[in-house]
Amino acid sequence: MSVLVIIPAAGSGTRFGGPIPKQFQPLGGKPIVQYVVERFLLSGFVEKVVVAVTDALLVTVKQAPGDHVQFVAGGETRQQSVMNAFNAAGEDFDVVAVHDAVRPFFRLTTFAALIDAARESGAAFPGVPLTDTIHATRDGKLSATVDRSNLVAAQTPQVFRYDVLRDALERAMREKVDGTDEAGIAARYGYDVRVIAGDPHNIKITRPEDLALAQAHFEEWSAE
Ligand code: C5P
Repeated sequence: MSVLVIIPAAGSGTRFGGPIPKQFQPLGGKPIVQYVVERFLLSGFVEKVVVAVTDALLVTVKQAPGDHVQFVAGGETRQQSVMNAFNAAGEDFDVVAVHDAVRPFFRLTTFAALIDAARESGAAFPGVPLTDTIHATRDGKLSATVDRSNLVAAQTPQVFRYDVLRDALERAMREKVDGTDEAGIAARYGYDVRVIAGDPHNIKITRPEDLALAQAHFEEWSAE
């Protein structure tokens, strides 16, 4: 079985602020995205990692030696960045994982469970039950309380059979549907998307305070 990992890392990180996008902030002495790429490669079950980066970065980034890591230009949206990476990767894969550049704390045991589930059902993602009460608001006021019992927060890596992700991405592009994750797109086109227990530590580094949290978590994590 051959596994491809796609890492969309072409965001400008507007919610993070500052000149350096969040995915290139240092964690344990290296950019977060590099740490993420290495974790996948060292897992021993990934054939290739394709990273989508901004045009500006693509000019300066050195192509890594060997054919296990490839950089491509990202697109206007996350989904277009994923599509560019998917198209550049080649077709020789059974399974494809899409993983946010800014989630360094994914578990390899969860990744392995996701691969198994995706091979069976076509697609799988890690979900974490919500603990906060969720209210909808309108004009600055609470308008409805949402039943959270069936809700999960979607994390990555999200894993798909190769043909499932290709079909879902192509249909979404054709229909100009721009999803915020690939699990949602696959479900939209009728595929069974299984949810596997995610991990609250698998945070998405989005705001500056998340980086402080990640730095604090890093040492504990790398000692595991
Ligand atoms: O903006 P958001 O936090 O949802 O981005 C999720 C991931 O998608 C990040 O790793 C970001 O770099 C990436 N992204 C991308 N191309 C874009 C926008 C976001 O690769 N045009």
